Amino acid sequence: MKKTIFTHATLVLPDRLVRDGTLVVVEERIRSVGPSDPGPTAAAEVIDLQGQYLAPGFVDLHVHGGDGADFMDGTPEAFHTVCRCHARHGTTSLTPTSTVARYDQYVQFVNICQYLLEGKSEGARIVGCHLYGPYFARPARGCHPDHDFLIPDADNTESLLRSAPSMPLVVTIAPEIANAEWLVRTYAPRGVRFNVGHSHATFAQVEAAVQWGVRHVDHLFCAMSDRARLRQSQTYPMRGGVMEATLYFEELTTEVIADGKHLAPELLRLAHKVKGSDRLALVTDAMRAVDQPDGQYWFGAQGSGQRVRKQDGVGLTADGSALASGVMGLDHAVRTMHHTAGIPLPEAIRMATLTPARILGQASEIGSLEAGKRADLVVLNQTLNVQSVYIGGAKVV
Ligand SMILES: [Zn+2]
Repeated sequence: MKKTIFTHATLVLPDRLVRDGTLVVVEERIRSVGPSDPGPTAAAEVIDLQGQYLAPGFVDLHVHGGDGADFMDGTPEAFHTVCRCHARHGTTSLTPTSTVARYDQYVQFVNICQYLLEGKSEGARIVGCHLYGPYFARPARGCHPDHDFLIPDADNTESLLRSAPSMPLVVTIAPEIANAEWLVRTYAPRGVRFNVGHSHATFAQVEAAVQWGVRHVDHLFCAMSDRARLRQSQTYPMRGGVMEATLYFEELTTEVIADGKHLAPELLRLAHKVKGSDRLALVTDAMRAVDQPDGQYWFGAQGSGQRVRKQDGVGLTADGSALASGVMGLDHAVRTMHHTAGIPLPEAIRMATLTPARILGQASEIGSLEAGKRADLVVLNQTLNVQSVYIGGAKVV
């Protein structure tokens, strides 16, 4: 029976820090957490953290790639590369996120997610699948390739969504496209989670989508309608869009790309103030250029995605005129929220751990330092840089 005892840790709990804490791991699970004496240490490995932070491993709901690979490259090797890359940044669980692509590429993406589900990936564990792309509104596609977008119907949904409920599945939908209501009302009762994203819907259309069963909105402020955009099609009265509806509806959780490049600190603070740290997750929206030099990259599948470039710590379209996803890990997002936006550390880390775990419906297994949960852990130094990472009690970084 493998036992590991972390001592002299600053434990990061969902609501507070505990100095000089002890955490005991037995096999793959957390056995105990607290300031108390760990008991007999014979036959246990004792790791003295000397005051460093011990936090739950990060959970990324929205990630496309890293270290030169993209989940749309279509091979298990690409998935392993991305998962190893994000583990170095403290992420222990993630949902691979697709990009706009050909139908056969989506099918391959879903099949590999299912094949590597639950610890069969190297590095960060794959805990679901985020199907992102086929059901966007084309005018809101952002940096995604301009392939054929799908109108949901029984033919194209069945092979993509049949893996639910054996695999946690998240599907992004623009509520204004045809058959959106049919899609959500048909599959939400089967366990599929629906996000609003890449949408120019009105406030009223988002309100309807909440009634259908949509509960989350992708990257707040990005690739979504707001009052100003909707005024281009109707002078008065001014209407709210996806942005205003996301801030308004308590039923909706959301996420921010907290790389410090997509959103200025005041927008991060606004999102946190209105939604609170239980309804706002931090995501990377990272593409393959994480831990790679500045230069040109494919966003999406190698050779058939969209040409983008990494520059100044962010992804940009090839001509540099628009944002095109993130290039940083989730550790950087935590630092941005705490150091730049001024959010207290337990909340900044909760938005990268327990909150996304809850959004995925997996908070009983992951997301906090709690007896019985998986021993997914990250050790951070005083400047919040990753020192070591454990997945299911095994050291991976
Ligand atoms: Zn994305």
